[in-house]
Amino acid sequence: MTSQLPLFIEGEVIKGFGRGSKDLGCPTANFSLDVVKSLPNGTQPGVYYGWAQIDSGSVHKMVANIGWCPFYNNKEMSIETHVMHKFDTDFYGSNLKICIVGYLRGEKNFKSLEDLIEAIQQDIKNADEELDHEDARNLKTNSFWNRVQ
Ligand code: ADP
Ligand code: MG
Repeated sequence: MTSQLPLFIEGEVIKGFGRGSKDLGCPTANFSLDVVKSLPNGTQPGVYYGWAQIDSGSVHKMVANIGWCPFYNNKEMSIETHVMHKFDTDFYGSNLKICIVGYLRGEKNFKSLEDLIEAIQQDIKNADEELDHEDARNLKTNSFWNRVQ
């Protein structure tokens, strides 16, 4: 997968399981299964960092989980994006564009919800640092963000 990065993805934000914000204190915007199925073959499940844009808004840092979420034992693979920005409202139905820049870690299971929450906080910190590097920063001004869908 790493050789295929960066990866540009876009699609509508749909309803997920409603777990992100409730259990984890960290909302994750979900793509439809169609978008998930359009991922390149051999995409590694795991946690990625990159950039995200809602409709034609600003480009923000993000962390995304691609996979089955072993902690929740999901049946279908999903792409869940946590945008590292505080929004005043939900944005279900909006167009979400993401640029997946790099890989942070593989998916793994956790003994408790606390451990999972701690790992997510660490992922956000790592993503924040990685995205300050020049190669990652350059993708924030890619023409992808200006393209009308
Ligand atoms: P769901 O299971 O429906 O995905 P979540 O609890 O994971 O529910 O919350 C995700 C929703 O929260 C997104 O679809 C979006 O509308 C909203 N949201 C608000 N702030 C953010 C954010 N910073 N990152 C991702 N989604 C956010
Ligand atoms: Mg979600």
